[in-house]
Amino acid sequence: MATIPYKRVLLKLSGESLLGNKTYGLSADILAYYANEIKAVAALGIEIAVVIGGGNIYRGMNESETGIERQQGDYMGMLATIINGMALQAALEKAGMKTRLMSNIKVEQVAETYIRRRALRHLEKMRIVIFGGGTGNPNFTTDSAGVLKAIEINADIIIKGTRVDGVFDKDPEKFPDAVVFKQLKFQEALDKNFKIMDKTAFAICQERDLKLVVFNFNKPNNLYRLLTGEAIGTIVTN
Ligand code: UDP
Repeated sequence: MATIPYKRVLLKLSGESLLGNKTYGLSADILAYYANEIKAVAALGIEIAVVIGGGNIYRGMNESETGIERQQGDYMGMLATIINGMALQAALEKAGMKTRLMSNIKVEQVAETYIRRRALRHLEKMRIVIFGGGTGNPNFTTDSAGVLKAIEINADIIIKGTRVDGVFDKDPEKFPDAVVFKQLKFQEALDKNFKIMDKTAFAICQERDLKLVVFNFNKPNNLYRLLTGEAIGTIVTN
């Protein structure tokens, strides 16, 4: 078998993706599917960390809808990521994997408080490490949390799972003639205002030269193909 190009990977998943076909909550089918996709790559000996969003439950910027002030809402959003992290943890364990949920907000009954060295140790022991609680700071997103964590744990790459095939020249869900990029430079994406990640997350990626791949996680076996070196999704580099 060809050598695997990645030793340690950070997978960023949106909370919204956990909805599946539902309009609220968590899809058991999606959770089981994600768990099995992750299991297949963990079996290759790749260390996997996951940062998960909370958009299926709450987003701080929904202030105008809910009347809940943004800062308070952001903390609610971060707690939502912990709920999703717990759900993914349960699904991974059901599929037979060893996991740890670590949080940047203290919730000691349900998740370990994040300590970098401990996270590294878990990864070395081949536990799937889920980082919940975002960055621990309001006014950020889980994209930023993903990028920061990827850098902190020295991940070889951050891969962003989406429901489309990568970065397109226009919205593929609105324009059938949209074209997907195979490769992109950070600067080009910024100049063309492509919405790949929020600006803060993207800027950190660029500055720290962290390789990013945006790929379709809803296509079975895509994660495996990507991590075994196939050209899946859009790769963004300097
Ligand atoms: N959030 C935050 N700080 C963080 C990460 C998340 O305040 O470091 C809050 C923010 O309100 C955000 C919500 O948590 O809207 C859920 O995260 P996000 O919208 O990034 O989730 P996703 O879009 O990936 O589901």
